[in-house]
Amino acid sequence: MMKSKFFKSISFKLVLLVTIVILALLSSSFLFNSQIDKLKKQIDNIYFGNFVPLITLDIVLKNYQTIIKCKKLTKAKCDITAEKTVIIKNWDSYYQSYKTKEERKIVNDVNSSIKTSFKIDKIAAYEVIIKQINFLKEHEVDVAYKQRREFLIDYSNMKDYLFYNLIAIIIFCFAIITFIIYEIIKKDNQLTILNKKYKIESITDSMTKLYNRKYFDTIFDNLPFISNANNWKSAFIMVDIDFFKQYNDTYGHDLGDETLKSVAKELKNYFNKEYEYVFRLGGEEFGIVLFDTNEDILIECLEDINKKIVDLGIEHKGSKVLDVVSISTGAVLYQPYSYISANKLYKIADEKLYKSKQNGRNQFSL
Ligand code: GH3
Ligand code: MG
Ligand code: MG
Repeated sequence: MMKSKFFKSISFKLVLLVTIVILALLSSSFLFNSQIDKLKKQIDNIYFGNFVPLITLDIVLKNYQTIIKCKKLTKAKCDITAEKTVIIKNWDSYYQSYKTKEERKIVNDVNSSIKTSFKIDKIAAYEVIIKQINFLKEHEVDVAYKQRREFLIDYSNMKDYLFYNLIAIIIFCFAIITFIIYEIIKKDNQLTILNKKYKIESITDSMTKLYNRKYFDTIFDNLPFISNANNWKSAFIMVDIDFFKQYNDTYGHDLGDETLKSVAKELKNYFNKEYEYVFRLGGEEFGIVLFDTNEDILIECLEDINKKIVDLGIEHKGSKVLDVVSISTGAVLYQPYSYISANKLYKIADEKLYKSKQNGRNQFSL
């Protein structure tokens, strides 16, 4: 239970979101790293695989040329000890480096030529070596050129690979993040709607769909304060259906409910403007609060609602006033800064309603 709740919760989604972002960063940096390593290896190859052998071969070549020059210039014996040491040292390092099978064969030949050249110690023998070394140099340049081409192809592949992988990671993360945000927003919307619904439900009378008594208390208690603050005249009307007990007795409780709903609907339709509130105070009694009104408007309203309810034409044979359902009302008009309490206003309206009843019902008193 706890587990499934956690997986559905927003905090879980936020944890997931952060995890995805971290994973995305890790995988992209891993991708970069592996590709950069590959790149470095390639560059190393070019440098140490091709550049160094050329230098080594060049040193060997130069020293041979020095020996030949010396031999051509001086008929006497040349001291080639220094050159010989350099040649052997450099050649050995070249000879020991990695070679393919075919290269190895040629390099072996050159190796024995070099070793014998010092024994023969003749210009011709040295010149043969120079040709061979030049050949090797050309070969190394060829290899370097080929490797460079391979490197360029690899490099562009790497770039493509990185590009598409990053795009894939971005799309993947974007999709998941969008989904999570959508889920969170959806949940939030649902909550807002639910809150609104409960808020409305908590202030609504379930049968008549008018505002309930609880909400009436809130609004009505604030009537003097709101009226003062806005310098409004405001009215409170108390409504009571005439001979409703009789109605129930004649037509049954269910039909009584229907009539209550019809009267409520009529009142709600009539008082439908801003700052007009209709409440069910309890039983067959209704309360109406009108902010920002005046005596003329109020009297017009009171006359209208008496007439409108009668005009509904709901049969009421038990009524001693008419043969249709009617209402009696008591009203009070609050003058701003008169500082009459809400309690007092309620009492006045109640007295006025009583007066209407006493005077024969289906009428109003103000
Ligand atoms: P009056 O003209 O003096 O107001 O007479 P009345 O019969 O309307 O007054 P009374 O207060 O004696 O009776 C009110 C009746 O309203 C009593 C009750 O049966 C009825 N009533 C109250 N609430 C409801 C309700 O929710 N549904 C129905 N059907 N009847 C209700
Ligand atoms: Mg009553
Ligand atoms: Mg009544």
